[in-house]
Amino acid sequence: MTSYADFYRQSIDQPDAFWASQAKLIDWHRPFDRVCNYDNPPFVSWFEGGQTSLCHNAVDRHLADRADQAALIAISSETGTEKTYTFKELLVEVQRMAASLKALGVAKGDRVLIYMPMIAEAAFAMLACARIGAIHCVVFGGFASGSLASRIDDATPKVIVSADAGSRGGKVVAYKPLLDEALRLSSHQPEAVLLADRKLAPMALVAGRDHLWTDLHEQHCDAQVPCEWLDSTAISYTIYTSGTTGKPKGVQRDTGGYAVALAASMKHIFDGRAGETYFSTSDIGWVVGHSYIVYGPLIAGMATIMYEGLPTQGMDGRPNGGIWWSLVEKYRVTAMFSAPTAVRVLKKQDPALLKKYDLSSLRALFLAGEPLDEPTARWISEGLNVPIIDNYWQTESGWPILTIANGVEKKPSKFGSPGVPMYGYNVKLLHESTGEELTRPGEKGVVVLEGPTPPGFMQTIWKGDDRFVETYWKTVPGRMVYSTFDWGIRDADGYYFILGRTDDVINVAGHRLGTREIEESISGHPQVAEVAVVGMADALKGQVAMAFVVLKDAALTQDSAASLRLEGEIMKRVDTDLGAVARPARVRFVTALPKTRSGKLLRRAIQAVCEGRDAGDLTTMDDPAALQQIRDRVATV
Ligand code: AMP
Repeated sequence: MTSYADFYRQSIDQPDAFWASQAKLIDWHRPFDRVCNYDNPPFVSWFEGGQTSLCHNAVDRHLADRADQAALIAISSETGTEKTYTFKELLVEVQRMAASLKALGVAKGDRVLIYMPMIAEAAFAMLACARIGAIHCVVFGGFASGSLASRIDDATPKVIVSADAGSRGGKVVAYKPLLDEALRLSSHQPEAVLLADRKLAPMALVAGRDHLWTDLHEQHCDAQVPCEWLDSTAISYTIYTSGTTGKPKGVQRDTGGYAVALAASMKHIFDGRAGETYFSTSDIGWVVGHSYIVYGPLIAGMATIMYEGLPTQGMDGRPNGGIWWSLVEKYRVTAMFSAPTAVRVLKKQDPALLKKYDLSSLRALFLAGEPLDEPTARWISEGLNVPIIDNYWQTESGWPILTIANGVEKKPSKFGSPGVPMYGYNVKLLHESTGEELTRPGEKGVVVLEGPTPPGFMQTIWKGDDRFVETYWKTVPGRMVYSTFDWGIRDADGYYFILGRTDDVINVAGHRLGTREIEESISGHPQVAEVAVVGMADALKGQVAMAFVVLKDAALTQDSAASLRLEGEIMKRVDTDLGAVARPARVRFVTALPKTRSGKLLRRAIQAVCEGRDAGDLTTMDDPAALQQIRDRVATV
């Protein structure tokens, strides 16, 4: 067996040979003639000249060996439904969907925006886009009209695929009115909207624009839609993520590089084997859902579980903290992927639940999306008695940057550390202001990547090449490196520890949110003069958003009834604009915000005060009383 150190070295020193060998893990319609083109840094093209298809590799390719094996298992504890599609059945569904999209005018290169709950149809839609060469843009179903509208305007989709409703904790969330409102707000209008009707909420259809899934599928019941072979560098999808500005960034990914990266990660990192079952508890609206609910497991020939519902709710809708473990037992899940927040929720359940089910099929639990704290890691590790594998990555990277590649060489995990750099990632720690490389163990720096970034990594920002370069590659003086915007340290064994973001992005229950987006929404309230949103540490969710608001009418700040009313109104506003995920945990009213003399908001100081830490160097602060007000207000939280 190769040592991981050699494996990693080859990926960095001889990337062409390394990735050409990984590329054999997928089917190519036409072989590539160049592995890595890095002639125009930081842009990189992988497998130029090659043609392939994500859909072929995820579905068609497996028909020869496993046509009748499970491919997609759609489970909803919200509706009490459970349905398995074999690879053969999945192909039928994907072709129906592909034919329906084509009938609505979708052609290669067109965008299809998918705004859906966690139902099988969402996966059919994604795979159908990949099949016909359309670019899918999945928007998280928890986002509300304002967020959706800005994404519609950026993606300019020809068709939007949606549903009547989702459901969370037994509460129906009607999607169609949110979509209609978003389309009222957006300048761009799609030619058609395709709707799955789960009969959870009434839907008013717009004549000529809205089509029912069932009607179109009936017309294309036996459709045969061959896979469109795409250039390796063709765009497969865009997915929006938050940054320091209010405007969301469309992370754009290719086809061939992504397929190779996923196939390789399924083998080397997730150790997933064809014929087995993979269970990721994420949502298709996030990158984990793209990579490790839909494409990764299917490319590996595994069955993948798509789960709608809470981790604490049984199939009968009643509380059941053992639901996920019961699914592991029932479907003989070998690899499971979740987030620390979900484990912290489960930690509050009866520990006997972990012993109640036969979990012997499980080889490892992978956790990502936010820092994994030691008590949570220990609790779940002792409960499951399998390796708990933390993995650090981003929407931008598409697959893990730091973790342990047990499929290459078994290595111990260290509590608090996601692990070591994955093959293909040339990870460095740099001094924030000098750009100097930090090589001594324990030195804190910004985690950056030296180009070329590996296959599967974002190609660019959709319609924003300049923004891509400016945002990610020009933050460290004198060096063109990709900034992750995370602080990190490395120990003497080369294990990294992630210490939080360097920018204004916060992470609430594994959901990445830009504080600026929340501030923009709050600023829209007619009584708000100024606002600062910061992330505050939270035992369950990792972080929660705290909003400090200066009102136009300062007198109201002292009026507790008015403050209560305004807090409710502001929260409601964020719910409507962005969705409940972005709602601040508290809104507190102050008469001034702490700023530097040049007028820059002292976010880090506000955050430190919220968390009861030292506010740091305040020599540039303009008005010390403003920070004191925050301190006083936090004391009342
Ligand atoms: P997202 O793009 O939504 O996946 O968010 C990516 C960000 O989440 C990273 O830049 C980190 O700040 C954080 N993150 C993701 N995974 C981890 C992890 N395993 N440990 C610590 N932070 C993480």
